[in-house]
Amino acid sequence: MKFNEYQKQALKTDLMIGKGTDLNSTGFLEKLLGLVGETGELADKFKKILRDEDGVISDEKMDLIKKELGDVLWYLASLSDYLGFELEDVAQTNIEKLASRQKRGKLGGAGDSR
Ligand SMILES: [Mg+2]
Repeated sequence: MKFNEYQKQALKTDLMIGKGTDLNSTGFLEKLLGLVGETGELADKFKKILRDEDGVISDEKMDLIKKELGDVLWYLASLSDYLGFELEDVAQTNIEKLASRQKRGKLGGAGDSR
């Protein structure tokens, strides 16, 4: 599936359509908080695997992790749309940024604009 096709399909399940896309709107804030929340759920899965499973990821847990990654992707796709970005463009821009850093030997280190 292509990024933009995924984004289009994901938006069909957005319950906050019409709730606004401005930075202080309920719609936008729900997307931002949703992305953070789903990322937290993903981290929590790994925390419990480390704490309760000695760091061994079962097939069942791997399936749950895949679903959480999908939840993160859903919010990333919808938040991108709220900001007026096609997901394909977000992905391409990221790859170009990383390729530039790699070419300049700047993959390591810190700073958004290195
Ligand atoms: Mg989730």
